[in-house]
Amino acid sequence: MKHITVNDYQSRPVVVSHSTSVYDAICTMFLEDVGTLFVVDAQTTLVGVLSRKDLLRASLGKQTLETIPVSIIMTRMPNITVCKKEDLIIDVANKLIDKQIDGLPIVAEVDRGSGFEVVGRITKTNITALLVDLANDEII
Ligand code: ADP
Repeated sequence: MKHITVNDYQSRPVVVSHSTSVYDAICTMFLEDVGTLFVVDAQTTLVGVLSRKDLLRASLGKQTLETIPVSIIMTRMPNITVCKKEDLIIDVANKLIDKQIDGLPIVAEVDRGSGFEVVGRITKTNITALLVDLANDEII
């Protein structure tokens, strides 16, 4: 367990642009069957995170969801907890418990030195899959 990395248990990231409407983000979340969307700017740099409850909360308002950009309601940088491919899964699990969130974007540093590119996603589901593999002795 202490040497299993994010790279061994990860999912593909689903990203939307910061100018996407809340309505379209809800559609993307359903179509892609994920619980968290990552928001990127025009340079594909990570700028935000959208959870199911962020979108539900926005839906409670009186505004038309087609006209509100996700950038208004997302959790934004620098408040996003991230991880890298080479990080240990146990460290990710600790972050998820500590921050009470469902998943983390897996990021790589952008060459320009400012910001992160999203290269993957790791969630409680991936960690549950690891638990099952451990129970089945598929990992020594
Ligand atoms: P839900 O809100 O559907 O229960 P989460 O528990 O993952 O899902 O999200 C709780 C809050 O934390 C949301 O406002 C969401 O934007 C934010 N959040 C989710 N993932 C992250 C992350 N990796 N870093 C920082 N904030 C996050």
